[in-house]
Amino acid sequence: MSAPLPPLDVVGRTDRLRSAMGDAGCDALVVSDPTNIRYLSGFTGSAGVLVVRSDRLVLVTDGRYQQQAADQLTAAGVDAEVVVTRDTPPALAAAVAGVATVGLEADHVTWDAQRRWAEAFGADPVPTVGLVLGLRAVKDDGEVARLERAAAIADAALAEVRPMLTRRPTEREVARALEAAMLDRGAQGPSFETIVASGPNGARPHARPSDREILEGDLVVIDFGALCDGYHSDMTRTFAVGEPTATQQRMLDVVARAQVAGVEAVRAGVPCIAVDRACRAVVEEAGWGDAFVHGTGHGIGLVIHEEPRLSPESSSLLAPGHCVTVEPGVYLSDHGGVRIEDSLLVTATGSRPLTHSPHDPAP
Ligand code: ZN
Ligand code: ZN
Repeated sequence: MSAPLPPLDVVGRTDRLRSAMGDAGCDALVVSDPTNIRYLSGFTGSAGVLVVRSDRLVLVTDGRYQQQAADQLTAAGVDAEVVVTRDTPPALAAAVAGVATVGLEADHVTWDAQRRWAEAFGADPVPTVGLVLGLRAVKDDGEVARLERAAAIADAALAEVRPMLTRRPTEREVARALEAAMLDRGAQGPSFETIVASGPNGARPHARPSDREILEGDLVVIDFGALCDGYHSDMTRTFAVGEPTATQQRMLDVVARAQVAGVEAVRAGVPCIAVDRACRAVVEEAGWGDAFVHGTGHGIGLVIHEEPRLSPESSSLLAPGHCVTVEPGVYLSDHGGVRIEDSLLVTATGSRPLTHSPHDPAP
C-alpha cells in the first residue's frame, strides 16, 4: 500500500485552461480559489492569487510563502513568476498589463476584492464560472491513483473497525477508531468529519457522531473517507447490529437495489441526471421517494464534493475520468437510516469501483 504514487501532470493543466479561457472570451484569468491554484500550480499556501495569461503564469503571494511557493512550483515543474507583496491589487494589475479582457472566478471572488481589482486594473474584469472546476472534474492517472490509495486506506480501516460494532461502542468511539486506523495506514487525515449515525440518529443524513451507545436492533450509517496527497475518498456502509426488523430489512434491500441500479447506469456519455433517476426510481417504486432526501452522488477530488453532481438538477454528461459517488439512502425517523455509497471511476464502457468494502450489513 505504500508504493510510490505516480507524479501529477500539473503542467498540462494550464494549456487546457487556456483553451477554456479562449472559449469564455478572456485573455487572462485571475484564479483566486486556493484549490484551483493548487491544481494549476502545485502551490498549497493559504494566501495567493494566480494569473494565467496566454504567454505566462504569475503567482502573487506574501512573504510567508516565498520559499514554499518556489519549492512547490519547482516540484510541480511549473514555470511561473512569483511576486511577493503585501498589496495584491497593484501586483495583479502589473500581471495583467496589456491584456484586453481579464476574467475572474465569479463564484469565489468577494465583492470587495472585485471592486479593488477593478480599480487597480482601470477596467472591470469579466465574470467566469467553473473554468477550472470543469478541468478538475476529469482526473488524470496520477489523480486516480491518489483517489484509489485513499479509498484503499478507508477499506482497510473499515475492515479493522467493523467487528467493534457488536461490542456496544459509542458512535464517537467508532468514528475515532476509524480515523486512527486511517492515520495508521498513511492517510493525511479523514477526508471530512466521519459520520457514525446509529438508531434514530441514522435518520438524519449528516448526523455528527454522539455519545450514544450502539445497541442491538440499530442500523448504523458510517460515511467516511481518507485524505491522500490532497485527494478525498468517500464511502458509506450501513450495518445492522443484531437481527433487523422487517422494515429495516426492506430498507436495506431497497437501497442496495437502488445503488446497484445507479452504478449500472454510470458510463461516459450518460447524463448525470439519468444516474439519479435510475437510483430514485427503485426507491420511489418501494414507496419511499420522499425519504430519499438528497442527490444521488457527486464528484470527488481535491475537495470532497465537486463536479459533476448526480442529482435531479444535473445538466452535465458523465465523461471518462470523472470520479463520482453513487449513494442513495432512505431515512425513516422510526426505523433509522440506510445509505450505501461507492466511489467509481467513469470509463467509456461503464465504471471501475474505487471503493471495495463488502456491502454485507452484518458487522
Ligand atoms: Zn460519503
Ligand atoms: Zn458522498
